[in-house]
Amino acid sequence: MTIQRNPTRSVPIGNITVGGGEAIAVQSMTATKTQNIDATVAQAEALRERGAGVVRIAVDSQKDAVALAEIRKQTTANLAVDLQENFRLAEAVAPHVNKIRYNPGHLYHHQRDKPWQEKVRFIIEQAKEFDCAVRIGVNCGSVDPAKKEMYDPKDSITPMLESALEHCDFVDSLDFTRYVVSLKDSDPSKVIEVNQRFAEQRSDVPLHLGVTEAGMPPDGIIKTRIAFEQLIGRGIGDTVRVSLTLPNDRKPEEIAAGLGIIDDIHAGRVRTVVNLNEKALNIISCPSCSRVENEAFIDLAANVKEMTEYAKEYAITIAVMGCRVNGPGETDDADLGLWCGPAKVNLKKGPEALGAFGYDEILPRLKQELDILIQHKTDATVQN
Ligand code: SF4
Repeated sequence: MTIQRNPTRSVPIGNITVGGGEAIAVQSMTATKTQNIDATVAQAEALRERGAGVVRIAVDSQKDAVALAEIRKQTTANLAVDLQENFRLAEAVAPHVNKIRYNPGHLYHHQRDKPWQEKVRFIIEQAKEFDCAVRIGVNCGSVDPAKKEMYDPKDSITPMLESALEHCDFVDSLDFTRYVVSLKDSDPSKVIEVNQRFAEQRSDVPLHLGVTEAGMPPDGIIKTRIAFEQLIGRGIGDTVRVSLTLPNDRKPEEIAAGLGIIDDIHAGRVRTVVNLNEKALNIISCPSCSRVENEAFIDLAANVKEMTEYAKEYAITIAVMGCRVNGPGETDDADLGLWCGPAKVNLKKGPEALGAFGYDEILPRLKQELDILIQHKTDATVQN
């Protein structure tokens, strides 16, 4: 099957180029503690050897940045760092990476009186000085609050889109075009829509595709495939990540999954026009990274899936997240959400917090809430 790719700009990232018609690069992220240099280097190398074009490392502190400098010396992987809330870390990480990711929705937390434009200018200056590419990474769970206020709360897509477009215009005005954009959501249908709308307006900007918190294989791969088939099949997307909840030693499976989906699409082995099943239980779980606060999270995600099997025919979404950085925001849209702290798991019903429970207490508590939701749905069906 010949796919007419969008005519995107070429964005060099270390020894690969994203966009400009180059092969679609597959990325992943280390989930080891960044300050555990040996483990992080081993994981970065395992991902590179499996075919990762870029390996992202989480850096949240100056100590992580010091570890990153050492990691850089010990791996030939193209490295990227996600700045999360501390934009000033760009200065400490840029000398050691090939790409910096910033999230427009996270620029508000530090130095609140400083306009976001100054913060972006600072990041771009570091990228220019140290020969880095940039990703403007917009995420459904952390959209710029100023943009969200401007639109109907039911419309989660337009604020994401407008935030990305605004940042592209600003970064262009700084005479910097070596960037890609990502627009991620845990719902594949939203990923499809927001990326299509972005590509209609900025077909020149390379897109990094991904479905966040896709969950465990095989479901996580299937959800991601749904979005990638629709987008890559239409020429949209220059680099991808398949975010899967996997233990550390299985992380390279993310790369294998990404390469497999891309190969299938190019060979025409697509699973047709896939309709999302809106009448079934949907478990979303984050792919885990070095921010996971208790490794029991991976088992918890598996146990939630197993325990909730009895509810598979109900249209209920349960989110399981590994940390406090993204957990609280990303669980807001789920019917029931769990986000994991070091000793307790926080349980939510939509945006409402229901309390924190031990890792050995959470499953029965979750089941209680799930049973209530099922009862409400059953009652509503009977009344109709
Ligand atoms: S929710 Fe936290 S632990 Fe999970 S991938 Fe996101 S940042 Fe990492």
